Amino acid sequence: MGVANINYIFVVKLYEYITKKPINMSTLRYKAVEQAISRPTLKVEAPSVKTSEYFAVNVFNKKKMQEYLSQEAFDSVMQAINKGTKVDRKVSNQISSGMKAWAIDRGATHYTHWFHPLTGATAEKHDAFFEPASDAYVIENFDGGKLVQQEPDASSLPSGGMRNTFEARGYTAWDPSSPAFVMDHTLCIPSVYVSFKGDSLDYKTPLLKSIEAVDKAAVDLCNYFDKNVTKVNVGLGCEQEYFLVDDALFNARPDLKLTDRTLMGHSSAKDQQLADHYFGYIPMRVAAFMREFEIEAYKLGIPVKTRHNEVAPNQYECAPVFEEVNLAVDHNQLLMTIMRKVAKKHRFKVLFHEKPYNNVNGSGKHCNWSLLTDTGVNLFSPGKTPKTNMLFLSALVSVIKGVFEYQDILRASIVSLGNEHRLGAAEAPPAIMSIFLGEEMNRTLNEIETRVSGKKMSPDEKTELKLDVGKIPEIMPDNTDRNRTSPFAFTGNRFEFRAVGSSANVAFPMMTLNSIVARQLKEFKKEVDTFIEKGVNKDEAIFQVIKKFVLASKKVRFDGNNYSEEWVKEAAGRGLTNVNDVLDSLTSIVSRESKDLFSEMKVFSEHELEARLEIDMEKHTKKIQIEARVLGDLAVNHILPTVYRYQNVLIENVKGLKSLFPGDEFEKMAANQMETIREISTRAGIVNTKVNQMIDERRKVNVIEDIREKAKGYNDNVKPYLGEIRYQIDHLEMIVDDEIWPLPKYRELLFIR
Ligand code: ADP
Ligand code: MG
Repeated sequence: MGVANINYIFVVKLYEYITKKPINMSTLRYKAVEQAISRPTLKVEAPSVKTSEYFAVNVFNKKKMQEYLSQEAFDSVMQAINKGTKVDRKVSNQISSGMKAWAIDRGATHYTHWFHPLTGATAEKHDAFFEPASDAYVIENFDGGKLVQQEPDASSLPSGGMRNTFEARGYTAWDPSSPAFVMDHTLCIPSVYVSFKGDSLDYKTPLLKSIEAVDKAAVDLCNYFDKNVTKVNVGLGCEQEYFLVDDALFNARPDLKLTDRTLMGHSSAKDQQLADHYFGYIPMRVAAFMREFEIEAYKLGIPVKTRHNEVAPNQYECAPVFEEVNLAVDHNQLLMTIMRKVAKKHRFKVLFHEKPYNNVNGSGKHCNWSLLTDTGVNLFSPGKTPKTNMLFLSALVSVIKGVFEYQDILRASIVSLGNEHRLGAAEAPPAIMSIFLGEEMNRTLNEIETRVSGKKMSPDEKTELKLDVGKIPEIMPDNTDRNRTSPFAFTGNRFEFRAVGSSANVAFPMMTLNSIVARQLKEFKKEVDTFIEKGVNKDEAIFQVIKKFVLASKKVRFDGNNYSEEWVKEAAGRGLTNVNDVLDSLTSIVSRESKDLFSEMKVFSEHELEARLEIDMEKHTKKIQIEARVLGDLAVNHILPTVYRYQNVLIENVKGLKSLFPGDEFEKMAANQMETIREISTRAGIVNTKVNQMIDERRKVNVIEDIREKAKGYNDNVKPYLGEIRYQIDHLEMIVDDEIWPLPKYRELLFIR
């Protein structure tokens, strides 16, 4: 218990002693507000003025490896990173001792495999370096075996039935492609997590497999144009949105504490209407928090670059410079951890939930995705020459066609209970997958479609087309002036997947995107090769397939307002799918096309997909169950007693009026109060009834054995009560005396900083 807590309890006790009254919840609310508004801004000092001097000090990167490893060990790690080769057992001993020496120099006493189980958070199990040896000597021990593989006995992590709990064998294995780092005196070794039989139990394993698939498919495409390309990397830059709230206010809201969102709360009279928060001045206390977490991020080699206020009050964003996707995913997870830790020091809580507050914008995590060759070419940068533009167009149309053909699977990769509140709520793209290309690109594709249409091209036409294509400017005008309503947008040299939720582990959507695009690139090559086998020359063959892809995927291109009603209608007319139900959408990952896609790309086996779905369904069930319980408790134990208390005040007031003004006058004078007394009874009655009905529904659903049926039960029969109960409570909040309202209000949560 911290000093602050002891003080707090002391103050409460003192208050109770002096006033001879037990403290009530509203007093706690006021206390929290008082604490929140009087927080000092912390002073933050960087280890050195120049970021470059301490950037990645806590990362076992190439430079440190060169220093601490033998040439043989260093080469072996480099090979593993660049070519995906296995590290020899003997060499792994050398690597582990070098890594240990470095970590101990950085103050580490423990080590852990750091991995991404399917809980969505990261997991670690620390072991000390030392081991008792004979004669009470203690030696610092960490051998190659422990570096390469561990068995964390993490029998409670979700596995979707792939790992029997009694067997409990899950293994973590070192992922050399993401460098080890020291955090809180612990050497963290990024790892994959698989079952005894080799099934993936984490987010990283399928991501790594998808990287391999898209690398191979993209290299094959590039080799049509340039034989020197041997590797294509996936680039990812995540824009992380989040809310901050003072921790005293947070702690006075059991719903925020237990469900990451507010389950009730009437809108603040002013919130984001004036758009005065967006890109505005960053409040000092917040700026100090940002500065400190950025410093911590730099020490771990995370290149955070951008920070700004977002649309909703107390909503912010940060974005690092893009990196290789596996590293970027690790860094995003790590960044979220660092932000949580640093926030504690500044007495903030970071809310990563997609929709912590009703009626103001929610948070997303835009994923900027691209493909980059080892020869320095970005496949999505239109080049200056027709040759590079051919490559660009081939890659571009493969992505477009992939999104078109696998819309359901792509959507399934981003849906969740939290993201559901955000999608389609006129603040984030709806559940219809479409691509924004911008005027220039659309014109180019339309031209290809008509030019090549039907007949074989004459040499002249081909040259003309090439020249036209060659005229695509390198930086397109709509790179800056761009449509922000699209779930998937081409932004000049990359795609921006905007439908991803702020709390997501982006490994899943990135794995999906990589697999989809790998599949299309493979098809692209197959079709080109078929033309070539028929004697068509290479350029012509490529043109033909580009055109074919353009035609096949035209329906998924949309540059208009994705938030509009018209688009929903038009999309339906185009035959695009629009799945608003989370569970229906999730189920797409076990469809025939999904199973075929992921097994062809060697990313998931069929039963791994079934297991993922099971885990997601269970998560959905449990989250609704928790929300329902919390809301029930709050309604019955906090809200109803408060509203009855206020109702009694009104009743006393009416009685008093009646004794003072017995005549006609009374009726008039008490009319408003009587009305409010009635309204309270009605609304409180509904709350009571609905809470009981919700409990009944839970009882019914709880006995369902089948995981999918149970999730459906919770989704369809329990979830609707959350909104209905809230609706009544939010109205009661507007009626009841502010002084006795127990929970911090929206105007406090959103505006105190
Ligand atoms: P905006 O808000 O305008 O979308 P931000 O600056 O907030 O832009 O974030 C853009 C993100 O896109 C950054 O992480 C940036 O590094 C990343 N990015 C830029 N170019 C590429 C690229 N070629 N591939 C992947 N990500 C990229
Ligand atoms: Mg941004």
